[in-house]
Amino acid sequence: MNAGSAATIFAHASGAGRAAIAVLRISGPGSAGALRALCGRLPAPRRAVARALRDAEGGLLDRAMVLWLPGPQSYTGEDSAELHLHAGRAVIEAVADALAAQGLRPAEAGEFTRRAFLNGKMDLVAAEAVHDLVAAETDAQRRQALRQLDGALGNVYRDWSGRLRLALARQEALIDFPDEDLPPEVEADLLRSVRSLRAEIGAHLDDGQRGEKLREGLFFAITGAPNVGKSSLINALAERDVAIVSASPGTTRDAIETRVILGGVPVTLVDTAGLRDTIDPIEAEGVRRAYARAASADLVITVIEAGGPFEASAGGLIVANKCDLHTDERPAVLPVSALTGMGLAALRDRLAAEATTLTQSSGPPPLTRARHRVSLQAAARWLTDAEDAVEPELRGESMRLALRALGTITGQVGVEEILDSIFRQFCIGK
Ligand code: GDP
Repeated sequence: MNAGSAATIFAHASGAGRAAIAVLRISGPGSAGALRALCGRLPAPRRAVARALRDAEGGLLDRAMVLWLPGPQSYTGEDSAELHLHAGRAVIEAVADALAAQGLRPAEAGEFTRRAFLNGKMDLVAAEAVHDLVAAETDAQRRQALRQLDGALGNVYRDWSGRLRLALARQEALIDFPDEDLPPEVEADLLRSVRSLRAEIGAHLDDGQRGEKLREGLFFAITGAPNVGKSSLINALAERDVAIVSASPGTTRDAIETRVILGGVPVTLVDTAGLRDTIDPIEAEGVRRAYARAASADLVITVIEAGGPFEASAGGLIVANKCDLHTDERPAVLPVSALTGMGLAALRDRLAAEATTLTQSSGPPPLTRARHRVSLQAAARWLTDAEDAVEPELRGESMRLALRALGTITGQVGVEEILDSIFRQFCIGK
């Protein structure tokens, strides 16, 4: 598929389930024809109008709000339209059938945003932000995605590319005109640029993965001897979040992983003892993964019985449960009672503070994706090679490769091969 793709696509872009309104989105060169066929003459651009929608035989399909969004001032950059239908399944299907009968085809996952990228409406970093915004569960995730969509992160990467391109142009001048009397500071300048770029990329990479963690969520492992009250504590923590705890049914991990929102960050609590209990050859893979995640947990919470012994060297957070039975005033432990709720608010606050510290970044926008990380690591390696290179041609080549690695992040260069993997993750209609 390319920017000039002739197909006109449509998709139900609003959510599934019972709703009042369903939005059908159309994009492509046939949008105007499709709209005329459905509702007569085209409405004025970008004006919402109420129209009767009819099939080819003139049968009434629905009375809907219609928007005509001619390109290039549309989301995809192509001629587009939106139909705000009554959300009954039969209504959506009847209108979709009428569009298919006119030769339009259902959109693939992410196809609207993919077209927006191919038509230069947004770079890849912004396109990924659209995906994150659609998936955002918490306010902190929403803010990070919006900041990225607004170009804050893309601008950082473009600025680096621009500076590297300038240094490369100088390097090429040195290669092409070795006998000319180029000012001696040209080489010193470009080397300084390469060094400072590598340092900035290094600092950006060395951010404790805060942006990625906020996007993907944190893992807190809960350990402790049997019967100290780990499950009770997890249930108590999840209780207030009942509406947002998302258990995906049918996986082993449900029994041992609980998702809660702490400090605006999705956190999965993994009961590591539960892991040992549920080992079953068929479900071993799910358990193995949960184990691996618990092993690399962002925080280990050790639960002990109030007043009981614990290993101070274990690190993480020590929670003394059952403080309704015994008091525990040791400063190293956080006393709670899963039974009476005593201390639970303080525990929540403490966990929320940990989650915030692990994901909050002040200053420039943080790295948000493994894909970006891989390209930046490659760019940093090439820049190190450029610094170490003695031959001007080799230095030039390393700088070109670093520039290429940076360009793949925003989609300025050679991205055909990565587009599929990026847009496949989208939902239909985006
Ligand atoms: P786990 O094996 O560590 O997951 O422990 P459970 O959550 O299954 O709890 C073990 C037992 O301790 C159960 O009988 C719970 O009712 C009890 N229990 C859990 N929390 C408390 C608490 O705060 N106070 C008291 N008195 N009993 C508790």
